[in-house]
Parts: sequence; C-alpha cells; structure tokens
Amino acid sequence: MHIHTLGFPRIGAKRELKFSLEKYWRGDISQAEFLAQSKSRRESNWQIQHDAGIDLLPVGDFAHYDHVLNTTLLLGLVPKRFTHQHGAQSNNTLDIEFSVARGQAPTGCQCAASDMTKWFNTNYHYIVPELSSALVANDVEVDVAPLLSHYNDAQAVSDQRKVVLIGPMTYLHLSVVENDDKLALLPSLLARYQQVFQQLSAAGVTWVQIDEPILALELNSDWQQAFKQSYNSLNKGTLKLLLTTYFGAIDHHVALIKCLAVDGLHIDTVAEKTQVDLIISALPGHWVISLGVINGRNIWKTDLVSVFQKLQPLYRQLGTRLWLAPSCSLLHSPVDLEQEQKMDAELKSWLAFAKQKCQELALLKQALVSENSDEITLYSNSALGRRVAPRINNVDVQQRVKSLTTANYQRAVAFEQRKQIQQQALNLPCLPTTTIGSFPQTGDIREVRAKWRKNAIDQQTYQGLIEAQIKAAIVCQEEIGLDVLVHGEAERNDMVEYFGELLEGVAFTQFAWVQSYGSRCVKPPIIFGDISRKHPMTLEWIKYAQGLTDKPVKAMLTGPVTILTWSFVRDDLPREQVAKQIALAISDEVDDLVNNGTQIIQIDEPAIREGMPVKQSQWQHYLDWATASFRLSAAKAPAHTQIHTHMCYSEFNDILPAIIALDADVLTVETARSNMALLDAFEQQSYPNDLGPGVYDIHSPNVPTVESMVALLEKAQQYIPSQRLWVNPDCGLKTRGWDETKSALANMVLAAKQLRAVSD
Ligand code: GLN
Ligand code: ZN
Repeated sequence: MHIHTLGFPRIGAKRELKFSLEKYWRGDISQAEFLAQSKSRRESNWQIQHDAGIDLLPVGDFAHYDHVLNTTLLLGLVPKRFTHQHGAQSNNTLDIEFSVARGQAPTGCQCAASDMTKWFNTNYHYIVPELSSALVANDVEVDVAPLLSHYNDAQAVSDQRKVVLIGPMTYLHLSVVENDDKLALLPSLLARYQQVFQQLSAAGVTWVQIDEPILALELNSDWQQAFKQSYNSLNKGTLKLLLTTYFGAIDHHVALIKCLAVDGLHIDTVAEKTQVDLIISALPGHWVISLGVINGRNIWKTDLVSVFQKLQPLYRQLGTRLWLAPSCSLLHSPVDLEQEQKMDAELKSWLAFAKQKCQELALLKQALVSENSDEITLYSNSALGRRVAPRINNVDVQQRVKSLTTANYQRAVAFEQRKQIQQQALNLPCLPTTTIGSFPQTGDIREVRAKWRKNAIDQQTYQGLIEAQIKAAIVCQEEIGLDVLVHGEAERNDMVEYFGELLEGVAFTQFAWVQSYGSRCVKPPIIFGDISRKHPMTLEWIKYAQGLTDKPVKAMLTGPVTILTWSFVRDDLPREQVAKQIALAISDEVDDLVNNGTQIIQIDEPAIREGMPVKQSQWQHYLDWATASFRLSAAKAPAHTQIHTHMCYSEFNDILPAIIALDADVLTVETARSNMALLDAFEQQSYPNDLGPGVYDIHSPNVPTVESMVALLEKAQQYIPSQRLWVNPDCGLKTRGWDETKSALANMVLAAKQLRAVSD
C-alpha cells in the first residue's frame, strides 16, 4: 500500500518562496540565486513528506507562481505576446513565466498579464490559459525538461516518485478560447500531451498522477464523449496513470470513468458523500484505488479510528491496490503546526497542518498493515475531545439561531419605499460618488499596526495614530468632493482577519499561511466554536470619522458569507448554521451603528460566488442560505439606513437572481476590467435596486481619464436609469498609492459632474 500526497504547499513554512519571489522581482537577487532557492524549497518539501512517512513523492506539484501556468509552459502554449517581444523571441523562460502571471518581469517589456481566477471553490487563483486554434496547432515543442530535472532531483530523497500533471480535459475546461469552441482544440492539445507522455515514458517515469478535477462537476454529453475519446486515444507507453479527482464526489461519472484507459483512480472521500464500495466494485479489478481520506483543505485533526474502521475491510479486499492520500493537494493547507508557539494547548491538540496530515497517513497505514489500532486510538482522543469541549458551545447563540423567524431575514419596508425615505434623509445628488472602503495602506499604517501588535505602543497612542489616518482620509475625500465618504480601513490588516479577531469562537495562528496567488498568502481565521461578538467592532472608528464631516460616512462591515468562506470552518456544524451565527454577530454591529446615527452601512460579500459548491445541482441550496445569511445581517436596519454591499472578481452573471435576493439598497460591483460586461446580464433580468458598476480598475496604477469613465457610465445608463446609478471605483484602494488615488478619484468626480449636467 502506498501513501502519497497530491501536492504539498510550495510557499514554505516561513513563506520562503514568497520572499524569494519578491526579492527576485525587485532585483535584489539574481536569477541563479532565485532558482537555487526554489530548488532547495522543493527539496525541503520532499524531505518533510518523506520524513513524515510518505512513500510516493509528488514531482511537478511545485510552481514558482501557479501550477496551471506551469502546465501552459510545459505544453508550449504561452501566448505570443509574452514570448516574442519587439519581434524577437525571448528565451528567458523564467521571466516569460512571470510576464504571463504579472504583466512584467525583470526582463522583457510590459504587456497585459493573463487573467487570473479562482481554482474551483477555493481561494487559490490560477492563471487562465489563453488558447486559440492557431496557438494550439502550431508546432512548438513541449518542454518536459524542467519536470524531468525535478524528477531526478527528487531521487536524492526517494526513488519512489510520481509525476503530477493537470489532465487535458481539465486544462481545456479552465482555459479561455477565442470563439469558445473549446472541444475543437482538443485534438491538437492531445498531440501535445502525447509528446509529454512519450518523453516521460522514455525517461523511465512510472506513475503519473493526472488531475481531472472537472470530473466532480456535471459534464454535458459532448464533454463526456470527449473524455472517453481522449483517454483512449493517448498512447501512454509504459506510464501508469492515476486519474485524480477532488473537491467533490464522482459517483455520477463512474460509468464514464471505468471505460478510460488508466491504471487507477483517486477520489476525494471527504468533500461530499460518496459511495466508495459501489465505485470500487464498478471499476476494473486491476486498478489502483487511491482514497483521499484526510481532508486536504482544512486544519482539523482526523479521527483516525473511524477512518481505520471504514478502511479495514477495503484493505483486506484490495491489499496493495489500496493507496491512501489527503483528499486534495495540501496546497490549500498551512504547512506546519509545530511552528505555532502562542496557541493554547487545547486548540493545538485539535489541529493538523500539511506536515501533520502526512504523519496521519503514516499512522493509518501502520495501523492497517499491523492490524493494531492502539496508536491511532491515542491520537484520535484529542480529535474527539474537540466535539465535547465546553468552549465550542455557546447556548445563547444556539438559542438565538433556533428562534429566528422569517421576519428576521427581511427588511421591514420594501426597496421602493426605502429609497424615498433614504433620499429624504441623505439628500444625495443624482449619480452619487463613493468608494469601496479602503484607502491606501501605506508603510506608515502597517508600521503603526505592527508596533501595536508587538505592544511597542500603547492603546492610546495607537488610537491617536489611526485617528490621524482616518482624519487624513476624510479631509482628502472632502477636497475631492465625494458624496459618500468612508473612514479608510487603516485599522484593518485584512477584511476577514480583522473581524475574526474580534469575534468569540474564532482563533488565530501566527504562521498558518496559505497561498492565494503568486507570492500572496492569506492567514485564515479558525472558526472552532459558536460565534458571538464580544463588543462593538467598528463603532468607535466610524463615530470618530463621522464626527469630522457633515457628509455621510459609510460604515464598513464584512459579510457573513465572506467571513465563513475565508476561514477554516468547524466541521461539526453545517456551514449554513455557522453563517447564521456570524450574521447575528454582524447584525449586532449594524444595530449599534444605527443607534449611533450611522446612515449608510456597507456589508461586503466578495466571496459569495467562491463559496458555491462545485456541482451546479447544489448551487440553489447554497445560494438560498447564503443570501438569507446576508439578509439576516442587514434586516434590522431601519428603512432610513441605507445598506450597501460590494462584490468583485468573480463571475456574477449566472447568480444574478441571488444577488437581487440580497436586497441591498446599493450594490457596488467590479465591472471596469470587462468593460461593463456584467451589465449585459441585465438585459435578461433587470437589477431593481441602486447599482454602482465600478468605473475604473483599481489594480492598475494608471490614472483613468474623465472621458473613459464618462464612456463607461454612459454605457451603464443604457441598463440602469440615472436615478439608480452610483459612481465608484471597482474595489477598495488599499493596494494603491495616495497620489494616483487622489487623481483617479478627482477625475471620477468630474465624470459624475459632467453626466449630472446632462442628466438633470
Ligand atoms: N471594503 C473592502 C475594501 O475596500 C472590500 C475589499 C474587497 O472587495 N475584497 O478593501
Ligand atoms: Zn472588491
């Protein structure tokens, strides 16, 4: 029996890769130094896994930036604008890689980066392959050399290795194709995979883990047919293929899968209910069955005894054909729990990060092989202890959730009437201007927060320094002439972490970083118990800001679905229950803000799309409870309080009814990059409330011109009457500098004024 991982976190326990990347991009280290550092990163990852007892090491899971981008490089499918600069072909492959990802690299010229989007229902972002028939059909050679050199390097740690590849069907599914006819490109794409297979086979590779996570989705008959044809037409030579699926059950595709010319199947047994016995009995008798029995995406210790009990009959039946692994790549898990020095012992005894998950597999294997469960019984005691620990329960919170009625999920007054009441209270001009919440997070601000965390400054000093930032933001907004102001969020490190730290039932780590994209990592809070609010979380800052101006200051809260989605969540309570608890805590904050005179409150929900299950058949159920949680957090606001929400960087067109169901008074949404493509969806279904489609892309340092924003607004006016149209950037400004922010917003205000003059 093999135990293996589908992939290991690349970033490093101390985010070593992040720092190497950023040094290289800044020019602080040479390319040779960078490559040496990334090599030692890979070696250390293999060593950690090997020492933990993993006996089949993954090779090819590592990436400098993204593994989908690596597949693009491997297949020789980098768009021409990156490889041919000034007419000449570049052969600096590392810089080509970074140009695709970021639009710039130490060498080569600047050009538009490829799009980046979320990897299934995770907060990991991949670089979207851009395919066209011309690109796929040309005769560029695939580039297997880096993969093979990693394969050789791994031998220093173990000769039991497997190559990890993204399969052709998933790669194609995730790409953008000029005329959208993806399957038309399949034959040429397969020719490239064929070359890869030949070269791997010639180099003596045995096992290839071929990732096809799209098998967890519903696929139409064309895709199912194409799946069969592809896998049966590829000549794999001496290679053995482990078809690998994750993030959902594949029971609905067993009839398809069993016909594919592969040598084994990996299934995720934790993401959804799956009938492992039925699947195994349907598959060819010689296949390896790899079971993902340890959750690769959360941080809880596994109850190994209950897994052992389920596995024992399977192991007796399958023997060495049974392999064990985490459910998915450990990319989505932090690296090493041992680093956590400040965490209380009880909480720590409930957790397992990537390294510990490898150790869990080794314990499980040992118990199965020796038929002795003593050690895992001991291990599982603390995992089971969590379920009965007093600190996870808060009877008041449970009671509050139980006694919710439909009235708690609805504002008392309908939008049309609210709109009139709010207009009387706020007296805003037509096409009101506002921003999404954050203002530039300068080095100064970060330093203030860091000092406060380290107790290098006292509370009073800290408060004074943050207030100075708030004041500067208010003064600046007044000068620019914005209509609805914000306090600027200087006190927040991260929109989820900030609230998480102030909520009961949520814990924090020092080093539980998870890669979000490239060198960017997030440190998700851990929701371990019932959630409540200790005390007001934003009130004092908002009151201070409002005291400085006669213009309305919009308070900023993070919504329940986003807090849930961007945290590690307890697995002993359905997610929808956890979302309700968070919603109640947020609604307490809404109450306090309203009682203290706040007229406008924004509840951000940028993660609402990402929280969706992978299978479309489950979307509606999710959207029902997700939108209900949002409404629960906002419903107590009286009619005269204007509720805004904001969402960004996701595909929203297919969830418009849910967005409408949020019943926010104003929705500000990112659309600038796509030239307001979102608005096309409103041709089918009009948006009934106020809407602020972002008029400029905050990711770009370029200052948008008045004309460009007027043009976008004129386009928006075709879909939304001016009386319901807002003018705002497409997301928060925290990553921008002050100068560009001031100029951009000043132009935005001019654009609004220009249009007001003609609309009046
Ligand atoms: N209010 C947040 C900000 O302005 C929203 C961030 C987001 O959309 N992710 O930064
Ligand atoms: Zn945003």
